[in-house]
Amino acid sequence: MNDLSASPALIERLKSAVGERNVITDDHGREPFENDWRGQFHGRAAAIVKPASTDEVARVVQMLAKERVGIVPQGGNTSLCGGSVPDASGRQVVVNLSRMNRVRAVDPANNTMTVEAGCVLATLQQAADEHDRLFPLSLGAEGSCEIGGNLSTNAGGTGVLRYGNTRELVLGLEVVLPDGRVWDGLRALRKDNTGYDLKHLFVGAEGTLGIITAAVLKLFAKPRSQATALVAVESPDAALKLLAKLRESVGERVTGFELISRICLDLVFRHIPNTRDPLGCASAWYVLVELSDSTQGSTLDNLLEQALGSAAEAGLATDAVLAASDTQRKALWALRENVSEAQKLDGVSIKHDVSVPVSRVPEFIERASAALLKKFPDIRIVAFGHMGDGNVHYNCGKSQADQASRFYGESPEVNHIVYEVVNDLNGSISAEHGLGVLKVDEIKRYKSALELDLMRAIKKTLDPDGIMNPGKVL
Ligand code: FAD
Ligand code: ZN
Repeated sequence: MNDLSASPALIERLKSAVGERNVITDDHGREPFENDWRGQFHGRAAAIVKPASTDEVARVVQMLAKERVGIVPQGGNTSLCGGSVPDASGRQVVVNLSRMNRVRAVDPANNTMTVEAGCVLATLQQAADEHDRLFPLSLGAEGSCEIGGNLSTNAGGTGVLRYGNTRELVLGLEVVLPDGRVWDGLRALRKDNTGYDLKHLFVGAEGTLGIITAAVLKLFAKPRSQATALVAVESPDAALKLLAKLRESVGERVTGFELISRICLDLVFRHIPNTRDPLGCASAWYVLVELSDSTQGSTLDNLLEQALGSAAEAGLATDAVLAASDTQRKALWALRENVSEAQKLDGVSIKHDVSVPVSRVPEFIERASAALLKKFPDIRIVAFGHMGDGNVHYNCGKSQADQASRFYGESPEVNHIVYEVVNDLNGSISAEHGLGVLKVDEIKRYKSALELDLMRAIKKTLDPDGIMNPGKVL
């Protein structure tokens, strides 16, 4: 496997398939495709190939498969686990899908759109909007990540609570298999019980089973009214109870429920210009709550105000501020959305993207924090995330930058402490970002031997020579 690098003759054939300037081999040109967004993973590729059609992808894959050259599918290269960059061998070929960026069709009556893998997520949100529809996938990287990458990582983000992960947003796929055959599964059906649902094999496969070239995506009614509040709560447990209470009173209208600790907000105030505390006194914990509805009018504000009023009476909320305008709404969301950036500006941290059953989020935070503080008394825990999905971004650092870099060396022990608690609560060590190369060893400890066997069997069936994104996931 991968014992052959891309020979000069192969490079020439690739150029004939996709055009000379769409095969990049020089050091300078390859560089942006060989390094990840965080600057943690650095590889070296034989070439970067940029096909513009499914047919070109198929021809490229056939050529590479014939010589058993490792293929790294790549979209916007925003992976946070090293999934989208080549290894250091200089033998793998990156197949970047960014030129496949056409919206092939929009069918408003069927509430679907058929799009190519290289469409940037923000462009698709806009395309849906132009047809008076919503494509609800939304994440921090939406200006650069591409739908093929979103599908391949089963991306989450802030809309999951109401609309589900990317997996829930797809009806059909077109995939170039590791031998170059094209599977046309671009069905736009909401009901189809004709055997195994193959598309779900490729969703979340991180490019290890084939290259997604196009997809049929679901569209939704656009929200016409929104109500947003930042709510101070005493603890994650109070936040959990608040979530249950809100759902009892307003049901499906709860579209956002993001937990934020005070430490996160302080980091944002310190590092992000034009941010300030919209509440009078500090609280240890907050939730950013959003209600949405596809009917017009201001009833949502009243609903939220009433719900928060009764939550306060029940002792579940200690303070709250409702956004009175779209500008204020954006300012509240900016507090949540800038946590990662603020933390990055503050220094290094050891990050965990974990999930547990929603009901056990408070227990996870309490147990993991107690275990970490016992071992590292001056640790700084930056916990925030999609509480409504049971997904916590649980990042550990030190408040002094110089200590923080040294602390990074403790990653294995810190990870172990956190993941053991996650495992004990039947959780997942990767809720959103995937395994890539980052967690390829760790997952062996936390998935059963049987589950890993089944995964390997699927990989072997579809990719017997192991050329699709070698070294990732398994
Ligand atoms: P890439 O990074 O290029 O690739 C990701 C993986 O998919 C790789 O394994 C690659 O081989 C594979 N792949 C890419 N395209 C294809 C294809 N067409 N066919 C087969 N395999 C393919 N993730 C979340 O889930 N939720 C978040 O809230 C979130 N926020 C983020 C915020 C920031 C600022 C950043 C930088 C990242 C964030 N991410 C988040 C992670 C990342 O953006 C997502 O994983 C995204 O879906 C990756 O898309 P991409 O096009 O950049 O894919
Ligand atoms: Zn997230």
